[in-house]
Amino acid sequence: PVRVRFAPSPTGALHLGGARTALFNYLFARHHGGEFILRVEDTDRERSTEESVSGIFDGMHWLGLEWDSGPFYQSQRMERYLEAAQTLLSSGQAYRCDCLPDELEARRKEAMAAGLPPKYDGRCRNRNVSPDKPHVIRFLNSRKGDVIVADLIRGNVLFDAAVLDDLVLVRTDRTPTYNFAVVIDDWDMNISHVIRGDDHINNTPRQILLFEALGAELPAFAHIPMIHGTDRTKLSKRHGATSVTAYREMGYLSDAMVNYIVRLGWSHKDQEIFSRAELIEFFDLDHVGSSPSIFNPEKLLWLNAHYMKTAPGKDLLPHLIPFLPEEKDPLYPGSRETGETASHIIRAIDEWKGRTRTLVELGESLQPFLDRHFSYSPELSKKGFTPESIPILSELAVRFESLDVWDHDHVAEVLKSATLDLSLKLGQVASPLRGALTGQTVSPGIHEVLLLLGRNESLSRIRRAIK
Ligand code: GLU
Repeated sequence: PVRVRFAPSPTGALHLGGARTALFNYLFARHHGGEFILRVEDTDRERSTEESVSGIFDGMHWLGLEWDSGPFYQSQRMERYLEAAQTLLSSGQAYRCDCLPDELEARRKEAMAAGLPPKYDGRCRNRNVSPDKPHVIRFLNSRKGDVIVADLIRGNVLFDAAVLDDLVLVRTDRTPTYNFAVVIDDWDMNISHVIRGDDHINNTPRQILLFEALGAELPAFAHIPMIHGTDRTKLSKRHGATSVTAYREMGYLSDAMVNYIVRLGWSHKDQEIFSRAELIEFFDLDHVGSSPSIFNPEKLLWLNAHYMKTAPGKDLLPHLIPFLPEEKDPLYPGSRETGETASHIIRAIDEWKGRTRTLVELGESLQPFLDRHFSYSPELSKKGFTPESIPILSELAVRFESLDVWDHDHVAEVLKSATLDLSLKLGQVASPLRGALTGQTVSPGIHEVLLLLGRNESLSRIRRAIK
């Protein structure tokens, strides 16, 4: 059965690369009806923080990457790693080493000067260092020839066993090293496929040697190529926000984010937009490419705009709530999440969502539909139009006042006849009206704006403008 894991080190935020690793593991598990395990690799007590753990979980929840078991914490499994190291010591596959860091450094330099690989020289292999002295536990690498990483994405990658060090398994402070803890965990947790970033490929042959020494069955390995910026260097802050939750704050939808991230390295024909169900149905490792993917913020924005446009207003509302501006004089008092206010907001969202790319933009655009104290766009004069527009607005005010039915057809008829009678074009009437009603230079159709605001509010805004 398929059992995969996401194994973050909690030393920072959930980055795009980590989120992609988590997503690929999640989708692989769901596609194969397997299990998705979460394991927190927090053996580095100095660099691991609670805050990072909760940030990573938060990011995973936001993206809907629910795990089936865990979180397991390496920090709670310390005894197990020591016990496994003991087993390797007993079978002669590991040994104690008390070489001091400066000695190691000096000998490494000598070796390099003599043209030898800069690895541990094996001095303590046969010294039988007493367990009572401070020491590390090293793996005894007696392997010859090539270690083959049969990677599901990169194919066979060969490493010469002779250059692989006698790896430290347990440090002087009795904490396990990364490579050792990972192998014990992947073994104990019966991991079938290790899917992780390409940056770990050099660790894999070392881990394979440990699996072999422990007599454990090897998992399959799949190393996903890195994510680069548009300048083809490793993704970093220079390329824009790299933490996943930063995008939530910038008004991105998690579905758009997932759809964007999955395409960083994976493809299915030339399809661009995927529902969650389709991702689960189509995802597999055979369509993960082997070259780095490029993070393109423009494309992410485009996808987000697409998701905003196609989502029904009622589905967008809960995501939009945090982005709605505070009202000074609410047009609709009451809860924004339920009742009349909500249905008003939903109507406004439905008119607007096709014109904005993020929830931040949408929230700002909706302000005039929620608050009598909307602000005028800086591109407009103080009251949203030029003095020449006053007669036009006055004329409209008179005609709207005598209108009994406030619906699309009647409102449209007034605008049409006023335009004709004033010998103007519709745009010349609509722009000052839009300015007066919304304070903005662009908006959904002017008819929709009039209907959304309703008769009283529309009239009072026109009057306020010409006063
Ligand atoms: N903890 C490692 C990391 O955050 C991942 C280890 C692995 O997936 O094997 O990079």
